[in-house]
Amino acid sequence: MASELPPFEWAEPADLTQAVALAAAGWVPVAGGVDLVRAMRRTGQGPARLMSVDRIAGLDAFHGHPRYGLRIGARIRAGRLLPDIWTGKRFAAVHESVEQFDAPHVANMGTVVGNLCAARADHDLPVSLMAMKGELTVAGPSGTRQVPLTAFYRAPGATALTPAEIVTEVFCPGPGTDGGSAFKKLDLIRRRAGDPGRLSAAATVIYGTERERIVEATLVLGGVAMPRRFAAAEAMLVGELPAPDLFTAAAEAALTGLPLSGVIRAQARALLRDALMQANARAQARHDHFDDAAEIAQEAL
Ligand SMILES: Cc1cc2nc3c(=O)[nH]c(=O)nc-3n(C[C@H](O)[C@H](O)[C@H](O)COP(=O)(O)OP(=O)(O)OC[C@H]3O[C@@H](n4cnc5c(N)ncnc54)[C@H](O)[C@@H]3O)c2cc1C
Repeated sequence: MASELPPFEWAEPADLTQAVALAAAGWVPVAGGVDLVRAMRRTGQGPARLMSVDRIAGLDAFHGHPRYGLRIGARIRAGRLLPDIWTGKRFAAVHESVEQFDAPHVANMGTVVGNLCAARADHDLPVSLMAMKGELTVAGPSGTRQVPLTAFYRAPGATALTPAEIVTEVFCPGPGTDGGSAFKKLDLIRRRAGDPGRLSAAATVIYGTERERIVEATLVLGGVAMPRRFAAAEAMLVGELPAPDLFTAAAEAALTGLPLSGVIRAQARALLRDALMQANARAQARHDHFDDAAEIAQEAL
């Protein structure tokens, strides 16, 4: 196994125009380097020209607010989310997916956007941010475009980005004052070659103003493959009163057609159900006090 980095050229563009021009000329973006540089060390191979995103002006936004959503620029390390109380309360699935990182120091090195762009089935932030209806802003030679995470992943390691594009930020609207979210993960014992090493699930549950019936829900599974939402299972929840059996049935419906062995299927079902149950419990807890406090704190800035 190689441990020396192969030779490469290095650039540190200062603004987006320079960065996009470099990307169009074949320079590959690197953020924390946790995935990219480790892979280069492991294989002794990699891009010949790397550009850091760390000095690009305007990519350092980090703002979580119950009304205005969660905005995370491409320079923001995942660990930055942990001490942020608004993210913890109102974007709980995203917060939990960082809180449960296997190696906490990695959260301080790797960026949220790098975690998403690596397009790995065993990454957690694609799961939580997809459940929160996350959307990427992508800059390229002809301007910027928005790409929902549901349309971003093509296959492991493959995304909707063209080589000339870079991601500038990820945004999610959050579940509002009448919604809640949750993220769960489970490390698996590999019984057969090809079995997934991990399962992860995230969900949101949103109530109408009368707080009786569910008006919207999202459900995402990761680990076994690139994450995806399950439209039919989500639709089963809309208009219903919450009940444990309903959440179990939605979790079961989500797994229809997925090629999972018996034990893994049972674990995936339990994880999806637990994510829904916890998101639901959070949705049913009133957040008004907290949101008022958040609003007052924001106005005081
Ligand atoms: C020991 C260990 C434990 C880990 N545990 C977890 C865990 O529990 N959960 C989890 O989710 N992850 C985990 N990871 C993975 C880690 O979180 C990611 O490797 C990290 O977040 C990647 O971010 P980065 O900024 O280092 O990306 P980089 O390595 O810099 O980049 C990754 C990829 O994204 C591309 N890229 C980066 N920024 C941009 C951009 N702005 N636009 C376009 N493309 C871009 C790069 O070209 C590269 O292809 C773990 C990693 C290690 C080593």
